[in-house]
Amino acid sequence: MTHLWEQGNVVSWSRTQRSHCYIFKANDIADLTYAMAMARTKGLSVIPHGAGHSYTDAALNSEGLLIDTTGMHRILSWDAEQGIMQVEPGVTIGEVARLALADCWWPAITPSTAEATIGGCVAMNVNGKNAWKYGSFGEHVLSLTVLLASGQTLTLSPTNHPELFRAFVGSAGLLGIITSVTLQLQRIPSAYVDVRLRSATSLNELLQILGEEQAADFLEGWVDGFARGDQLGRGIATSALYRATSNRARWPLPALSIPEQLKQDIARCSGTLGRPVLKETVRSANKAMYCWSKWWGSKRSWQQSLFHATYYAPAMFTGYQALLPQGAETFQAFVPYTQAEVLFKEMLQRSQANNFIPLWCTIKRHRQDSFLLGYQLDGYSLELNYQVASRTIQQLRGMLQGLMELVIAAGGRFYLAKDSLLTNRLYRRSIGDQTVEAFLKLKQFYDPEMRFQSNLFHRVFQASLPATNELCYARERR
Ligand SMILES: Cc1cc2nc3c(=O)[nH]c(=O)nc-3n(C[C@H](O)[C@H](O)[C@H](O)COP(=O)(O)OP(=O)(O)OC[C@H]3O[C@@H](n4cnc5c(N)ncnc54)[C@H](O)[C@@H]3O)c2cc1C
Repeated sequence: MTHLWEQGNVVSWSRTQRSHCYIFKANDIADLTYAMAMARTKGLSVIPHGAGHSYTDAALNSEGLLIDTTGMHRILSWDAEQGIMQVEPGVTIGEVARLALADCWWPAITPSTAEATIGGCVAMNVNGKNAWKYGSFGEHVLSLTVLLASGQTLTLSPTNHPELFRAFVGSAGLLGIITSVTLQLQRIPSAYVDVRLRSATSLNELLQILGEEQAADFLEGWVDGFARGDQLGRGIATSALYRATSNRARWPLPALSIPEQLKQDIARCSGTLGRPVLKETVRSANKAMYCWSKWWGSKRSWQQSLFHATYYAPAMFTGYQALLPQGAETFQAFVPYTQAEVLFKEMLQRSQANNFIPLWCTIKRHRQDSFLLGYQLDGYSLELNYQVASRTIQQLRGMLQGLMELVIAAGGRFYLAKDSLLTNRLYRRSIGDQTVEAFLKLKQFYDPEMRFQSNLFHRVFQASLPATNELCYARERR
């Protein structure tokens, strides 16, 4: 068998982070073992890479080795009676959802991209539009098999090596490589949801609606980042309820009438054409969306396929990336319920005052989980997405660092998959010194040579390491 090593540039999903590295594509555990041995021989650090849908540098490893796990994409078993599926790490959440849907099951928690791999979902402990009800992805993982830096394979679960399981979920690939995941899926009554919109004239009203919609199965708020004054934070709350039906037949996924390639081309073209008038276009689109939700949305609910209600269409990614050639900076703050209104208002006002209007803003409800690097709280998160332009990037970053201070003062947290400006100091202050120490203690135990590293590791964790580990790292780099 030939093993291919390439060198190349890998870019984060937000397009703001770029890294030159060695790339190895693994198709099975033997490939992983080989790649780890080669990395040791060559003195390279290693990071696993899934679909690359993290906005940050979590899956980048400059001048190190990136192990692409998307070739490990077999469904290992599917028990349609119990809703238990075992998969390799490169299987996407969309593939799991499609297979499960046919038997009336669904991932209990899923991000809104169908392309994220299961390895990536566990490693980032992703959240979804039902996070306040069902928590984080890791809460629905029955067990994991992992390959450690020592070459040892372990099976982790809430009862088998519980401490390592609790740390591995959400560890951003820094403790080892996930080689398989066993998931407990959720029974659903049908493959459809009833979707309802409620418009809100202000942030206060939007948060009130999100608080009221306890019965919803999925819930998300959208905020018009351009609205000011009395209307600051106006938006739309979208709720979805599983559609009950006694029909247990296999539901076909709705057929797409426009070929995917054509959709991609249209999206790319529209994105490119929209660049010169980006702000005005988004401002008008926001206004139109808000007005439409006001008169039409609140009058009725409509039926939508669960798959399409959950995941962004791939053409949207293409359009978004064509629209923002220099990428986007994302900021997601998780804050307790009591702090949300004041803090979110301040975040929107500061953005507007600095002339950095967030182009896409969403609010979700969350609940705290018990994973070591857990970032969700009993409260809300506000995600803000800004256009990046080389002329103003430093000012934008300065403003966002200021917002991070506010979030920390309010007892808030950040998400390693989305907040690329988080530093060691800010992370320690948000999640707590003890948590960072506990994580690094485990890392030093299971990965004493610091084999698993990423750009995120250097940015967020490295400064917390004792000098001996820094020396080890410096030696490898030479
Ligand atoms: C359009 C869009 C919408 C999104 N929506 C949401 C959302 O609703 N909720 C949410 O929580 N997130 C969301 N995300 C973020 C995304 O779901 C996460 O970043 C997820 O981790 C991406 O998975 P991936 O396969 O692309 O992983 P990558 O980005 O490739 O890697 C992510 C991390 O996982 C590690 N990793 C990957 N594979 C393995 C493995 N086999 N073993 C160990 N570690 C591994 C990597 O080292 C890295 O640290 C969204 C992203 C996009 C682009």
